[in-house]
Amino acid sequence: MNSSDSRLPLRCWAEIDLGALERNLKHIRAALPSRLKYVAVVKADAYGHGLPQAAARLMHAGADLFAVANVTEATALRELGPGWPILVLSAVLPEEDRYLADYDLTAAVSSPEEVDRFNELGRRTGRPISVHLKIDTGMGRLGVWAPQAPELYAKIRASEFVRLDGVFTHFSSADSDSKYTRQQRRLFLETLKKLPGLDRRRLIIHADNSAGLETLQRRSPVNAVRVGLLQFGILPHPSSMLAAVHVEPLFSFHARVGLVKQLPRGTAVSYNRTYTLTRNSTVAIVTAGYGDGIPISCSNRAQVLIRGKRCPVLGRVTMDQTIVDVTDNPGVAVGDHATLVGRQDAEEITVTEFSSWAETIPYEILCSVTKRVPRVYRTTLGT
Ligand SMILES: *Cc1c(COP(=O)(O)O)cnc(C)c1O
Repeated sequence: MNSSDSRLPLRCWAEIDLGALERNLKHIRAALPSRLKYVAVVKADAYGHGLPQAAARLMHAGADLFAVANVTEATALRELGPGWPILVLSAVLPEEDRYLADYDLTAAVSSPEEVDRFNELGRRTGRPISVHLKIDTGMGRLGVWAPQAPELYAKIRASEFVRLDGVFTHFSSADSDSKYTRQQRRLFLETLKKLPGLDRRRLIIHADNSAGLETLQRRSPVNAVRVGLLQFGILPHPSSMLAAVHVEPLFSFHARVGLVKQLPRGTAVSYNRTYTLTRNSTVAIVTAGYGDGIPISCSNRAQVLIRGKRCPVLGRVTMDQTIVDVTDNPGVAVGDHATLVGRQDAEEITVTEFSSWAETIPYEILCSVTKRVPRVYRTTLGT
């Protein structure tokens, strides 16, 4: 929150390294065929990293296009400047239509009704509305069902005030099922062949999210990639081939030690007594809880770095405070820095490890850091 005195010390904060974001984009691009355009996915406040800060850095680093979830995010992004096409990935609500024209946005279309609406809007405003045709190849969410794509394509082509700028699909299981992903990719490519007069040089044709890059084909009409997670330095799964790209994490999550105290063996710790001390213990009370974005599912499971050592969370995570065991970490003192995600000396807790304690995925962790937590930008220059 930003209404408070900026000199107040931070109790819980996220640090974001935009230098790492820039290097990640460059490494990803270097690993891909140079003909591919780069669509930077910055939905959900750039996966919690801050939309204007992340997008400005990605513009500087050479992103070709941007993709966001909705018109609200797209208008915020457009405020940064003209020139970069902005693709709205989710369905546009009829009341939002006019902002497509006002802010020069590109809509993803899945249905003839949308084409009619956008054509009408273009006619009214006197300028064609830019669209990408989305094809559902087995995700079951947005997009026209693949066999019906040629018909929708023909309708777009026949609509004077709708301009087709791209065609795309989305993989449902690229991080878990390469066979199904290949099947989706094949259906996408076969569907493209059924779209007469498709201008592959002018249109942006894209399918791959971060995990999709693992099954990317070198020779293909696909001429762009749509990257979110990987540019933020997180691999789609632990055994990912993309480890060779050498991305760095840019997000870290921090708090402080507010109190250190001794408790006798047998004491129950935190709400509902889910943990009982098995020895005389020293505990540290860390100044962050689920009100900051430490999921309650981390109770009795997560670890926190203090003075370079892993300290286990004891009992339930509470709204504002989390109790950790520092019995084996004797120097711990009030004011110490506690790292929930990030590095201290030789130890590192990744977003992926943290998300496994919470039994969720890195995407959800990044989206769950609450508005109480200031984002502090601290760029590194790298090597
Ligand atoms: C979120 C999203 C992406 C980016 O996915 P990552 O796995 O983060 O790379 C790409 N395409 C669509 C349609 C999305 O919704």
